[in-house]
Amino acid sequence: MTTELIAAVIDAHEKELTELSRKIWENPEIGWKEIKAVQWTAKVLENNGFSVENGAYGMPTAIRAVRGSGFPIVGFCAEYDCLPGLSQKACPYPDPVTPGGYGHGCGHNLLGAGCVGAAIALAETLERTGRPGTVILYGCPAEELEGGKGFMARAGAFAECDFTMAWHPAGEDRDSYGEHMSIEEASFQFRGVSAHAASHAFLGRSALDAVQLMNIGCEFLREHVTDDVRLHYEITNAGGAANVVPDFAEVSYMVRALRRETVMDTFARVVKCAEGAAHMTDTSVKVLIKGGFYPTLQNHVIGELVQEARKEIPAEVYTEEELSFADRINRFYPEYEEGVTPPMSTENQALRYEPIFQSTDYGDVQHIRPGFQVREACAPTLFRAHSWSMTASAGSSIGEKGMLRAAKLMAAAAYKLMADPAKLQAAKEEFSAGMAGKSYECPLSDELPWPYGET
Ligand SMILES: [Zn+2]
Repeated sequence: MTTELIAAVIDAHEKELTELSRKIWENPEIGWKEIKAVQWTAKVLENNGFSVENGAYGMPTAIRAVRGSGFPIVGFCAEYDCLPGLSQKACPYPDPVTPGGYGHGCGHNLLGAGCVGAAIALAETLERTGRPGTVILYGCPAEELEGGKGFMARAGAFAECDFTMAWHPAGEDRDSYGEHMSIEEASFQFRGVSAHAASHAFLGRSALDAVQLMNIGCEFLREHVTDDVRLHYEITNAGGAANVVPDFAEVSYMVRALRRETVMDTFARVVKCAEGAAHMTDTSVKVLIKGGFYPTLQNHVIGELVQEARKEIPAEVYTEEELSFADRINRFYPEYEEGVTPPMSTENQALRYEPIFQSTDYGDVQHIRPGFQVREACAPTLFRAHSWSMTASAGSSIGEKGMLRAAKLMAAAAYKLMADPAKLQAAKEEFSAGMAGKSYECPLSDELPWPYGET
């Protein structure tokens, strides 16, 4: 059976993949600066017969690696960036390697290595079974920052594929049809007139007043948007001194919702709050759009094939030591119940609709071609994303076992789709129906500079 062959290929590459993941975990690099991660990832791909383009799409930490030929074409979206402040040893209690340092608190070391494993296994299996098909591995920078995939899409990436796949480390084996949120991000820069805050305040026009009034406007706006809308802001410049009326102030906003249209509608109303605040304070405002992500658009046809693969590929088996490690992490969280909370959750759960109140730049890719994101247990049941416990799990054998299974699931589901033209057609028709006659419009304008070097 082909799935067994795929699993055997991944098993044969286990050492290479876990070493890649472990090296990236031990050398966490922030988005746009994933220099070593890219070198190591490219090396593994080259050693396995891929033609690798480093610095793809004009971005030093993007990769486009190709093996195979002909159709269908599948793309796997790897990531390898870390998070600030989440440095942590691979131990079941908070203990940073470097206090305040970088760490893989979202497990992107596993994510990248898992995609590399899937790409290798699928390419090798296509060759062994004499099937045509091209496998592309996209190394995608800075998912935790501005999101490299939008910049890659702006440069034309992903459209060459028939479909794409990705995965993310999670606390259970549960794929979902639910959307991640779409997001739009912008800075609002207010300019006024500075003056002595006591003697000549009547001559001043406060940019900070404008920021505060804009924020108050947006607080009232919250009542008049749909339940899924999320607004968050940070005052990034509040002037400089209490005794000076500030002539400059800046606030940064993120607007999120489950649908792109809702985000853009709400964002337009946030801009009105800014303009109203500028009017009230006799200041001016400039809106600097930083970009945005689409929501995810999980493809059911591909999702069903992942479910099929889940039944064929055994779930992870953990040692007593690993279960005790996971249990010790779970005990840090208030939901923990002695004797009730399982250390790890690897029960295969049915696909269901479940909105996910987070965002990912893989949503953009899913609006260019049909795609599916797998979620596989790589951490204890009560873990938190973006936390010390995720960093600890991502550097442990628990995380690596999940990474290897995710690689098998993605490669197996991709092979099934490539080998079944009717299913591939069905996936494409579902995608077209989901797009409802619209086409992907990159949220990043052509003028928006690529942020490498500024982060
Ligand atoms: Zn992540």
